[in-house]
Amino acid sequence: MDIKRITVFCGATSGRLPKFEEAAYKLGKDIAEAGYELVYGGGSAGMMGAVANGTVDAGGKVIGVIPRFLVEREMAHEKVQTLEVVQTMHERKARMDELGDATITLPGGAGTLEEFFEMYTWGQIGLHQKPLGLINTNNYFDDLMAMFDKMISEEFLEERYMNQLFIGEDLESLVAQFENFKPLPVRTYKDLQKGHRS
Ligand code: AMP
Repeated sequence: MDIKRITVFCGATSGRLPKFEEAAYKLGKDIAEAGYELVYGGGSAGMMGAVANGTVDAGGKVIGVIPRFLVEREMAHEKVQTLEVVQTMHERKARMDELGDATITLPGGAGTLEEFFEMYTWGQIGLHQKPLGLINTNNYFDDLMAMFDKMISEEFLEERYMNQLFIGEDLESLVAQFENFKPLPVRTYKDLQKGHRS
């Protein structure tokens, strides 16, 4: 896979254990050292700040995308090379998707999971063909993976849509798995409408 930029979703806070922020910093650093650019939510606190600091400290390039009304609340990062200020949350997510070639989610709260699931469901309906990775620090995503198993066993989710989802401990393990990613065909809104009518 040809990956240039990686979009990272993660918490605006740091979580209970120091290892969460350490994993975020390490991911940012690993992204820079592997020669990728980081795309993220533009904040300077919590997991978001840590991932950006990791990339900046290692000499890598960072693009932050933040809605104007969150510039103060999420303390927009002053050291990232590019900070795009957009109007809405929807614009932020669409722009973060547009900029990145793969998405990695670190531990975080409801906002993080919302962003993760939007990317997962966009992939499921064929609006993008990008692999999604979860960094499973402190087994944080074990229960989420159990929920995916349940969605499949109860026949609310087709197993083939798991082709886009990978889980690992760090960037290296995820990028190795991304090589096995075989995207399902992309469908446009027009195709989806046609499918709906037939
Ligand atoms: P959290 O995981 O709750 O700490 O939030 C992490 C990031 O997700 C923060 O930058 C939030 O601004 C963002 N976020 C929260 N809710 C949403 C949403 N509905 N859509 C997109 N991003 C969100």
